[in-house]
Amino acid sequence: MKIYDITPPISPHLVVWEGDAPVALTRVSHLAQGDMFNLTVMSMSAHTGAHVDAPGHFLADGAGAESLDLHILVGPALVVDVRGQAQITAAVLESLHLPRDLRRLIFLTDNSRRRLLADRDFHGDYVGLSADAALWLVEHGLRLVGIDYLSIAAYDQLRNPHHILLQAGVIIVEGLLLHDVPPAAYELYCLPLPLVGSDGAPARVILIAT
Ligand SMILES: [Zn+2]
Repeated sequence: MKIYDITPPISPHLVVWEGDAPVALTRVSHLAQGDMFNLTVMSMSAHTGAHVDAPGHFLADGAGAESLDLHILVGPALVVDVRGQAQITAAVLESLHLPRDLRRLIFLTDNSRRRLLADRDFHGDYVGLSADAALWLVEHGLRLVGIDYLSIAAYDQLRNPHHILLQAGVIIVEGLLLHDVPPAAYELYCLPLPLVGSDGAPARVILIAT
């Protein structure tokens, strides 16, 4: 069984969204100093590394991360290659000729070719969805969409794609490490922490080749 771990390692070196809190892993109890055990306290944004967006991220009365349905977070998924596209639009999606019964879709973009998640500096020129692409996904019955940088939506139009997807109950998974993942069909396991009332949650995300 081939498992692809598409979760970036979480450390203070991990890139975060511009202005977002950096990751801190602070040792507060030390074996080397005579304490009975080592103990680490962590501090980070709920949107660190591989993570889900909950409806409450963009919708005033939206549900928290604990409400997300595991039946959507786990199941067959397709990784599609859209490298070479500057933005993922409805026209790009149309050209992919995706299976009609597809429910989970993950985009392998130039973000992976550029290894943006491995660069400590935030880049605003990443590839994301346009609003018409978000509408297309909703109209075609998608329930989960994932991408290989820190936002599903293009930098210059953050609100509408998020809004359209979250309003329709589509789960958004961001920050996926895909540079070694061949575009293909997989079994997806995306397991966000059930942070009650949170607008997002970090997740361990793996793909198993089928
Ligand atoms: Zn997010």
